[in-house]
Amino acid sequence: MHGFELVNLMNHLMNKILVANRGEIALRVMRTAKKMGIKTVAIYSEVDRNAPHVRYADEAFCVGPGPSSESYLLGDKIIEICLANQVDGIHPGYGFLSENAEFTRKVTDKGITFIGPSPFSMEIMGSKLAAKDAVKGYDIPMVPGIDRAVEDPELAKEIAKDIGFPILIKASAGGGGKGMRVVEKEEELEEQMERAISEAISSFGDGAVFIEKYISSPRHIEIQILADRHGNTVHLFERECSIQRRHQKVVEEAPSAVLTKEVRAAMGQAAIKVAEAAKYEGAGTVEFLIDDDLNFYFLEMNTRLQVEHPVTEWITGIDLVEQQINIARGEVLPFKQEDLKINGHAMELRVYAEDPVNNFLPSVGKLETYQAPVGEGIRVDDGFTEGMDIPIYYDPMIAKLVTYGSNRSEAIAKMVEAIEHYEIKGVETTLAFGKFVMEHEAFISGNFNTHFVKQYFKGEMLSQGYEEEAEIAAILATKLLQGNQAIVKPIDQSNTNWWSKRL
Ligand code: ADP
Repeated sequence: MHGFELVNLMNHLMNKILVANRGEIALRVMRTAKKMGIKTVAIYSEVDRNAPHVRYADEAFCVGPGPSSESYLLGDKIIEICLANQVDGIHPGYGFLSENAEFTRKVTDKGITFIGPSPFSMEIMGSKLAAKDAVKGYDIPMVPGIDRAVEDPELAKEIAKDIGFPILIKASAGGGGKGMRVVEKEEELEEQMERAISEAISSFGDGAVFIEKYISSPRHIEIQILADRHGNTVHLFERECSIQRRHQKVVEEAPSAVLTKEVRAAMGQAAIKVAEAAKYEGAGTVEFLIDDDLNFYFLEMNTRLQVEHPVTEWITGIDLVEQQINIARGEVLPFKQEDLKINGHAMELRVYAEDPVNNFLPSVGKLETYQAPVGEGIRVDDGFTEGMDIPIYYDPMIAKLVTYGSNRSEAIAKMVEAIEHYEIKGVETTLAFGKFVMEHEAFISGNFNTHFVKQYFKGEMLSQGYEEEAEIAAILATKLLQGNQAIVKPIDQSNTNWWSKRL
């Protein structure tokens, strides 16, 4: 047996995995591990003691009280649990420690396999500026802007004038839509810059900000990639995530309604180059913005499994967690680019405990009723059961509702049906908002961008009174239309949610 085979054999050891996460993603990872015959270990905080991910795992260990800084973020404690319990690999899920290079390094140093990229790739892609720098030589289109941090407002003004207003100030260490400020004109720049810097320091402990051209009506399109340790990198097509609030995604789909074959292939190749520039291994996502003419611009790379990965799994038939585990244990990707095909259409709604009527504010509390829909073409990834409290300490996502159809309109219809059969009482959720999106003319036609919420949605559109008013208006409009076609003006879509339903 020569050296290479020996290394490969050693890499194959993956009998027990600890999932350093909670909620739906912990469960989702464990499901695949079980399917692969791998034992699972959960960690949990005191408030998650009775959570489904704890019950589902073969073994479970409490790591501390509710706040994540005292539980899910305690890397050293998690490593100790692994060492004491013969854990071979750690899957970090998303959030928490998933993009923490220092943690990854410690895990690897202790001889535990980290199911994800190397600390090197994480460090490059964890900083938006370092990422831009790394891909510079690879002919990847980027949003016009500067590729270094700015502190001096006068210099910022010069740069902004060069780029042309509006501009976007961004935190280099940013994530989750935080640390971003749109600046329309020069007079606002200094104040917005100060705010962005202080937000970046308080959220990320790093005040570096830079300036990008603000693309006026972009769509957010990202490419899923998989890369093994043997130099093979493929892309698994795109996900469109343009329906956002506070620069954060709520509805995602695959494929995008607007990409052409050619643009898809070009974006795929660009994403592979970005991954190669970072010497990437594992599953990762390269994010782009596209403009009205389908020009695309590199935004950043996320070095983990994304929340919205199920839509890609559904259209490609590939279990991304299984691939992550196989890559981590040194296997060669079992497919080539030409083997991958898009099959049908998948839609995802993030069901958050948030009140869309009230500016999407978190609405934590007890899930008095919780019944998820079941059926063909419906997948629900959740981490809660009826009677559970939604803790205040973590992201308020209850579930991901994913639907599938042989084409986009079938996936949309299935989503509407699934939302109608989802019963949640005790907290407000984004379900009704999801229905609003699915039934909106702009969404159905595919003619929308990241401003969809600002452009078309007002909280009161979901309240009872509005529905009734809209109904009366619809009846009146129909009567008028019957009476005198000429005087009827088209209804302003930006203020209604019944356009697509009733006309
Ligand atoms: P984060 O890391 O905080 O998620 P991203 O760079 O991924 O930040 O951007 C998040 C969202 O912010 C994008 O999907 C888009 O809606 C908006 N955005 C980011 N950069 C720009 C830009 N240059 N022009 C217009 N919108 C942008």
